[in-house]
Amino acid sequence: MTQELAGKVAAITGAASGIGLACAKRLLAAGARVVLVDRDREALARVTEPLGPEAIPLVVDLADAASVTGMMPQILERAGELDIFHANAGAYVGGPVSDGDPDAWDRMLHLNINAVFRSIHAVLPHMIARKTGDIIVTSSIAGIVPVVWEPIYTASKHAVQAFVHTLRRQVIPHGLRVGAVLPGPVVTALIADWPQEKLEAERARGGLIEAEEVAEAVHFMLTRPRNVTIRDLVILPQSTDL
Ligand code: NAD
Repeated sequence: MTQELAGKVAAITGAASGIGLACAKRLLAAGARVVLVDRDREALARVTEPLGPEAIPLVVDLADAASVTGMMPQILERAGELDIFHANAGAYVGGPVSDGDPDAWDRMLHLNINAVFRSIHAVLPHMIARKTGDIIVTSSIAGIVPVVWEPIYTASKHAVQAFVHTLRRQVIPHGLRVGAVLPGPVVTALIADWPQEKLEAERARGGLIEAEEVAEAVHFMLTRPRNVTIRDLVILPQSTDL
């Protein structure tokens, strides 16, 4: 028997684009009310408007501590409660370490790691008080496989995996579930900085999946009976070396 999402409230970060937006649409279709959290005000307004009144835009810059502090009060003000928090926003830097820009690494690590921890910390008291809740983090296949093309990104997602596995066990007594979805390459703005030849080669051999497939996987995770946790869901294109 699966759990219905009708009447549930979800908040998804990085929801103005890519995987976050696809997940927002999937959960709306499943009957949830969805707070779409993103720093990109214009994109948020553009994508949220056609989704109807159950889609609630919320501008938050996850890289800014004060902005994250203000996130949960605004979610509660607009939606009343929170059943599902999907820490999805992330950035990507690939390429040789020797040619890398450590300042760009710092910005990515701050978003992919610190902002994930901080935003989850912000929602935990509410979920613990209600003795129920689901936390999903968008990790990556790079969270469990050392992807040689992208050492710093791989390190960031390994940190996410460590956090998910430890937090999950800490909050079991409070009735909360914590899990990670780990996609391989997905066609979104995130991989736009891949070299064109690499993108074309991956596309030609079927090495990319669509954001909607990831959203379907997240929906599956959230609709298991509450005594079942999908801790890690790895979702890959059929043709991949990863
Ligand atoms: P995307 O670039 O399409 O979307 C990212 C969204 O995050 C954007 O809307 C952006 O405005 C928002 N964002 C960025 N910085 C922010 C900040 N400081 N505060 C608030 N919002 C911010 O990317 P995507 O591919 O959908 O990536 C989503 C997640 O999926 C990331 O965690 C990424 O690491 C992960 N992932 C992506 C792929 C892939 O191939 N695309 C594969 C595995 C995992």
